[in-house]
Amino acid sequence: MLQDGFGRTIEYLRLSVTDRCDLRCTYCMPEKFKDYSEPEHWLSFDEIERLLSVFARLGLRRIRLTGGEPLLRKNLPELASRLSRLPGIDDLSLSTNGTQLERYAGVLRRAGVTRLNVSLDSLDRERVQSISKRDVMPQVLAGLEAARNEGFRLIKINMVAMSATTDDEIDAMTAYCIERGFVLRLIETMPVGEGGRNTGFLDLRPVQERLRRRFGLVDGVVPGGGPARYLVSGDGRFQIGFITPITQHFCATCNRVRLGVDGILYLCLGQNHTVDFRTLLRSGGSNADIEEAVLAALRTKPHSHDFTSRPQRVVRVMSATGG
Ligand code: SAM
Ligand code: SF4
Repeated sequence: MLQDGFGRTIEYLRLSVTDRCDLRCTYCMPEKFKDYSEPEHWLSFDEIERLLSVFARLGLRRIRLTGGEPLLRKNLPELASRLSRLPGIDDLSLSTNGTQLERYAGVLRRAGVTRLNVSLDSLDRERVQSISKRDVMPQVLAGLEAARNEGFRLIKINMVAMSATTDDEIDAMTAYCIERGFVLRLIETMPVGEGGRNTGFLDLRPVQERLRRRFGLVDGVVPGGGPARYLVSGDGRFQIGFITPITQHFCATCNRVRLGVDGILYLCLGQNHTVDFRTLLRSGGSNADIEEAVLAALRTKPHSHDFTSRPQRVVRVMSATGG
């Protein structure tokens, strides 16, 4: 079992396979962002497989492919297929903005991805365009329909709740997800990078109570070990999660770390603690050296983020760490 210095079991890793993106969501990436990692620093598929196989031997159980936009990484299905077969890994999932999902849904499913998170912040086409800076809603909806037909075990919609998000937008998204069997997750905007700080968050506590009454929902638990608190419909078929890093933080049950495309391990989304695995991998480190470095890195995982007391702390953009 992999444990950090506070006794938390770490069994989940979010792997950013690229820090590039075809969208520019206000809360994530500045419109003129250019500070990308150098291609020669990107871990190759062999390096990723080697590093994650060491993590898996130590106790990692679940991997999520993320980015930037992961579907921009060339040959991603090949990487997915390699990671889904790693001994010890029993869950491979993907977070995507959905712009290319229509084309990739089938091949990803066959490569062993079982669960999808698709980001969609509104069902109002102009709002989506103004948030993401591209007119992509029709493509994303087509991608979601394609994914539905491919038999993924679970499809979740990630909707960032910004200060400008309205009740009508949340209600429309809830109704859309109920109709299609998608799990909805509302996420309070985090003050990561300048965009995250400037966007403003929506306190989800009153939203939760309003949706409970409006859609007749009750408290529920959804397996997966994530940070969301869930409400479910009476028949259990619809679930909505509330990710509240600002108003009710969940650091005590944190079970994850994040690996950047350049081999930098991020110990906390809301802190600057990192460990460089690229140099170790490329300087002839043995598997035993990597194992030792992983255990040492986990001992430095911070207790909690400081999103409310020190929102200026994290200057990197969210697309660098994969959210
Ligand atoms: N491009 C993919 C996507 O959008 O799903 C994967 C990467 S994205 C960084 C992962 C998740 O982080 C998305 O659901 C996105 O909405 C969320 N995210 C990005 N910036 C955020 C912020 N400042 N606060 C809260 N969530 C954020
Ligand atoms: Fe790209 Fe995802 Fe960030 Fe939006 S949230 S800019 S889609 S990485």
